[in-house]
Amino acid sequence: MSKSMPQLTAKQKLTHAWGKARRFYYGVFNQDYITRSHARRRGECLRCGACCKLMIECGHLDEINGVPACAKHKVKYKNCRIFPIDEADLADRDIIAPGTKCGYYFLPK
Ligand code: SF4
Repeated sequence: MSKSMPQLTAKQKLTHAWGKARRFYYGVFNQDYITRSHARRRGECLRCGACCKLMIECGHLDEINGVPACAKHKVKYKNCRIFPIDEADLADRDIIAPGTKCGYYFLPK
């Protein structure tokens, strides 16, 4: 995936804004939900960089040898470290890169 930011509709930006608020809420107020959901999570990050472009392209998104990389990897924000929390996050991510999949997936509840 290139570093370019796709054009998003207002509805898609709102969806992403809600997702950011949702992750923030879970991160601050509902760690139990994150723990339970992550227990169903499998796979690994493939470094596609799509989750770095939810609503806006993150200013810390860098590229090393053509591969997306976080310039703040060692001090990543919690919202980034916990991504994806659940299927809703994957749906948000798929808006950015519908032709590829996140390396993570979730076992059914
Ligand atoms: S969308 Fe998934 S595979 Fe891509 S960078 Fe984010 S966590 Fe990694």
